[in-house]
Amino acid sequence: MNDCIFCKIASGEIPSTKVYEDDTVLGFKDLSPQAPVHVLLIPKTHITSVDDVTPENSAVVAHIFEVAAKLAKEFGLSNGYRIVTNCGEDGGQTVKHLHFHMMGGRAFGWPAG
Ligand code: AMP
Ligand code: ZN
Repeated sequence: MNDCIFCKIASGEIPSTKVYEDDTVLGFKDLSPQAPVHVLLIPKTHITSVDDVTPENSAVVAHIFEVAAKLAKEFGLSNGYRIVTNCGEDGGQTVKHLHFHMMGGRAFGWPAG
């Protein structure tokens, strides 16, 4: 049984506010936005984290960045934005399904945290 919350969002079992969808990628609004624009981009198939990206499944990661570039234009983020993926405990990953936070509409500090 798959208890992964983002797999359930990808299948529609759990509702989300979608901003993008195709056969392999879903984009939806983060429930706890950290910026005026804060969406999560996920592969529809389960990949746990960056640790699990392989030559066999990495095409969807490249595709996610193509989607991000398209969405940045749609959202009017001409002044820039930030894309973050947290990996594992030290990375602060709370949902164990690969996701990219795309945040914009304000300036960000560096380093984060
Ligand atoms: P991370 O800490 O990098 O694993 O990020 C998980 C993100 O998922 C957090 O920013 C949460 O606010 C977000 N999140 C958790 N559950 C949901 C949900 N059901 N719908 C939208 N975003 C969610
Ligand atoms: Zn999953």
